[in-house]
Amino acid sequence: MIITIDGPAAAGKGTLAAKLAEKYGLAYFDTGMTYRAVGLAMTLDGRDINDAAAAEEYARKLTFPQMLELAKNPEFRSSKNGVAASVVSAYPGVRQALLQMQRDFALNPVFADGTPANGAVYDGRDTGTVVCPQADFKFFITASPEIRAERRFKELQAKGMETPYAEVLADMKARDERDSKRAAAPLKPAEDAVIMDNSELNIEEMVGVAAGVIDAHK
Ligand code: C5P
Repeated sequence: MIITIDGPAAAGKGTLAAKLAEKYGLAYFDTGMTYRAVGLAMTLDGRDINDAAAAEEYARKLTFPQMLELAKNPEFRSSKNGVAASVVSAYPGVRQALLQMQRDFALNPVFADGTPANGAVYDGRDTGTVVCPQADFKFFITASPEIRAERRFKELQAKGMETPYAEVLADMKARDERDSKRAAAPLKPAEDAVIMDNSELNIEEMVGVAAGVIDAHK
């Protein structure tokens, strides 16, 4: 079984994905990690993220184990690296280069410890439209930029990263703008996705709605 969860940054996709993965015994692939890995690898090497050809080269060379290694860096989840990820993700060549790695996971889903799973939950921006259009269940999660920025601000604070709220909100809006206006795979719900607004639903309610949809059709 393949489930996709798409939506803007900090909409609660990761939390919902983790809960559904646990409930149905599925592996989890956060596709944003592939773009964060390219952004961080370039930053660490002192490369310019505005250089599309260089970004594509980094994307082509990236392997799954390298991505997991880069994810250990405290900067990987920073607001700044989220912006870098969204800059490199707008290059069609970068998206194309990372697509195979993203799709391969559905053919061979594995848990974090490497053991095989019977399916996967994907989260990202285009997992229901481009990466896994064949997915069994698709969800699209939204929430206002202010609610999402507040959530991200608290997450960063809990990790000891003191980024001012105004900066997190500005980064969030800049990312929304870039993610939804780019020509390559802009952020939009798949035609067959179930849309949920979590400004109105808490996580337990979202899991309840999603599980209701899955259990009715599986
Ligand atoms: O989800 P996360 O915030 O980690 O994603 C970082 C950036 O990667 C997003 O802002 C978006 O630009 C890009 N992304 C994407 N397609 C995906 C997942 C993430 O373009 N499937």
